[in-house]
Amino acid sequence: MQYISTRGSAPKIGFQDVLLAGLARDGGLYVPEQWPKLRSGAQTATKQYAIRAAEVMSPFVGQEIDAKVFEVICVEAYSNFRDPEVAKLVEIGDGEYLLELFHGPTLAFKDIALQLVGKLFDHVLKRRGERVMIVGATSGDTGGAAFDGVASCSNVDIVMLYPQDRVSDVQRRQMTTLTSPNVHAVAIDGTFDDCQDLVKAMFNDRKFRDSQQLSAVNSINWVRVMAQVVYYVTALEKLGERAVFSVPTGNFGNVLAGWIAKQMGASIEGFVVASNRNDILTRFFESKQMLANEVVPTLSPSMDIQVSSNFERLIFEINDRDGAATAKQLTDFRMTKKLTVSEDGYKKWIEGVFVGRRCDDRQTMATMQQVFKESGMLIDPHTAVGLAAARQSAGVDYPKDVPMITLATAHPAKFPDAVRKATGQTPKLPAHLADLMGRAERSVSLPNDLTAVQSFVANCRR
Ligand SMILES: *Cc1c(COP(=O)(O)O)cnc(C)c1O
Repeated sequence: MQYISTRGSAPKIGFQDVLLAGLARDGGLYVPEQWPKLRSGAQTATKQYAIRAAEVMSPFVGQEIDAKVFEVICVEAYSNFRDPEVAKLVEIGDGEYLLELFHGPTLAFKDIALQLVGKLFDHVLKRRGERVMIVGATSGDTGGAAFDGVASCSNVDIVMLYPQDRVSDVQRRQMTTLTSPNVHAVAIDGTFDDCQDLVKAMFNDRKFRDSQQLSAVNSINWVRVMAQVVYYVTALEKLGERAVFSVPTGNFGNVLAGWIAKQMGASIEGFVVASNRNDILTRFFESKQMLANEVVPTLSPSMDIQVSSNFERLIFEINDRDGAATAKQLTDFRMTKKLTVSEDGYKKWIEGVFVGRRCDDRQTMATMQQVFKESGMLIDPHTAVGLAAARQSAGVDYPKDVPMITLATAHPAKFPDAVRKATGQTPKLPAHLADLMGRAERSVSLPNDLTAVQSFVANCRR
């Protein structure tokens, strides 16, 4: 399998290079040359998650990693999940399901991709005799999940920038209490956007990028999207019938993975794209026009995003894979904050497949409360946005008798304040993190200044 850039001018590359590159040199995102078809093997519904994962992902990996070796990598990646099912399908009402994706080490669905990405980096870099410096910005969940994924890689160093005082205590501690010498959390005196701008500036500095061998694991990295395709497939195989998925959405990575599963032949009826008050996608699905606003903080901070970077992969498809047209549309969007898709493109790719639904903080709280009353279950605010959207949509956008699966993207203990406020209950951290709040922290603070950050990064290379 070869990969092409959504902006059409970067050369085709294979799986290993896509893994290490993250972003294409032309500023685009890598996508496979074609969408492979799913093959249902023997007893797929009861197969171990890691084994089915290796089967589902194998066409994307192609010949670049031996199939047996890849299977072993998958088994290792999913060996430290607290639930053996990894992605656990739970019925909470009549035809209403949660797909629990938070049983990994850092309690958010991002572990499912980043545990695998860490193992793959280790494997590919060892084979090539190379090392990399991963730099990234995090608004909370990516930092901890990326650290945990690469903490044991001897050929990877990682620096994550986060906005000082704007991530939750649990999120910060998941980054600052690790003792591995290769992980570095840096508090930046600025916002998440400032952090992201610093990372972009480091990548745009070609000399710095090459001399430090910079690499990225943010959600535009193809391998993260690929790993997320799997749980849509396994959930449907367990359910045994068609379903709608409601997906709490920020960068559009998770819901895009579902759309890819559908392209591959998974029996998905459609998607509810769930947003909080940062509802650029909801407005797009209503008006066929993307219009960026200011970001407002909400109870579901990992979805506080206005420009969903992974949406570019869908735009590329809507443009019939015309890279030049996609590049133009996205450069214009940066300037004008406006993007429109054609009537035909909308009909062919969006209508009947995606609907957008939004949910404000008041509804988020009410949904957490409602679920606790109905079933005694605690859900996190991101999951609550997804479930509220699902409940708005069932019987309106989709027939009521089609099962609705909401992706539960974080463990409630990751957002204890919101959960406590809504339900009066304090969710408990799982045993491996029970002493998190008492562990010693190790973090550096830096000004919002490129030179300061670059010299810090250069000093972290071992
Ligand atoms: C990252 C994140 C999301 C958003 O996922 P995208 O792939 O960016 O759409 C939703 N919920 C939680 C808990 C997250 O950490």
